[in-house]
Amino acid sequence: MIALAEAGRVAARPMLRLDPAAVAHNVRVLRRTAGVPVLAAVKADGFGCGAEAVARAALGAGATWLGTTTLAEAVALRRAGLAARTLAWLHPVDADWETALRLRIDVAVPSADHLAALAAAARRLGVRAAAHLHVDTGMARDGASVPEWRRLVRAAAGARDAVEVVGVMGHLPCADLPGHPSTAAGIRAFAGAVAAARAAGLRPALRHLAATEAALHVPAARFDLVRVGAGLYGIGEGLREVATLTAPVVLTRRVRAGTPVGYGHTATAPRDTVLATLPVGFADGLPRSAVGAEVLLGGARRPVLGRISMDQVVVDAGPAGVPLGSVATVFGDGGPSVAEWAAWAGTNPHEVLTGVGARVVRS
Ligand SMILES: *Cc1c(COP(=O)(O)O)cnc(C)c1O
Repeated sequence: MIALAEAGRVAARPMLRLDPAAVAHNVRVLRRTAGVPVLAAVKADGFGCGAEAVARAALGAGATWLGTTTLAEAVALRRAGLAARTLAWLHPVDADWETALRLRIDVAVPSADHLAALAAAARRLGVRAAAHLHVDTGMARDGASVPEWRRLVRAAAGARDAVEVVGVMGHLPCADLPGHPSTAAGIRAFAGAVAAARAAGLRPALRHLAATEAALHVPAARFDLVRVGAGLYGIGEGLREVATLTAPVVLTRRVRAGTPVGYGHTATAPRDTVLATLPVGFADGLPRSAVGAEVLLGGARRPVLGRISMDQVVVDAGPAGVPLGSVATVFGDGGPSVAEWAAWAGTNPHEVLTGVGARVVRS
């Protein structure tokens, strides 16, 4: 009885379900295609799907590295018992370097100032840091610019007692645009940066430039390791979507054609029909900007009617209606894809997935 009641209670809430087998499939495809080791990027709580669960699935399928943006995310993986080689790549200059060193987390280093702070922490602890020097290859974002690269390489060469340069990394801005000239330019800049590091006496064994799109489509960018995020989650050609967002119908009502619906009365019922209310809204990640959105409900695609509210959305369930408690599939598993939601909202699938709110139960 208790088990039934609990199952019922869980089923009656909006849920995001991860399919670890789909993650594993995607890792195998990416490994096979890239032909080099795979770092699984589980930043932003594994694109909203649960970093630990995604990490375990990815490692189980042959990924050999984990990657996060922040040190805090990497620390959380360690606390969850994940001992795999882990790289965190975006840090304020006064990051908690000592924690990174104690937990043997590799760190990306984008400036001589960062390197000095990291080296100081390593000397305090009497250990050697594992650093990946991060060069800008066209993003103008989180890697060292050309003049900074010179300073950084020199600083690293002078700090070999405290910092081991195990890798050089870059990131391509337009790998999803076939033939974009910035990709070839980025690869050249990257090779030049590696050469400069070697000329300074550094011996980075791991050169890594490619994220998902380059891992799949730009062989010259693969080098020694590919850092894949999007692809793990099914974003990319030939990959499987991994997440399903469901929500129960909490209320139904029969309405006449022309009944206005929701804030601003931006839509009206197109016919005599049954409206179904789902307890998910833009606070749960349904993009308010979506136009023409649909969900799977009662075995058919049903249009979203009117504005998406913060916590709710109304669906035209059709003249026959659906029982209270029916479960709608917002995306995944036979319903609309994350990519469809992205198209309806004029954004990318990454933003839809990472936007799923904290109040949605993960399972
Ligand atoms: C997010 C990120 C990745 C993964 O990129 P995808 O396109 O999601 O595969 C790799 N490297 C860096 C530096 C990133 O920020």
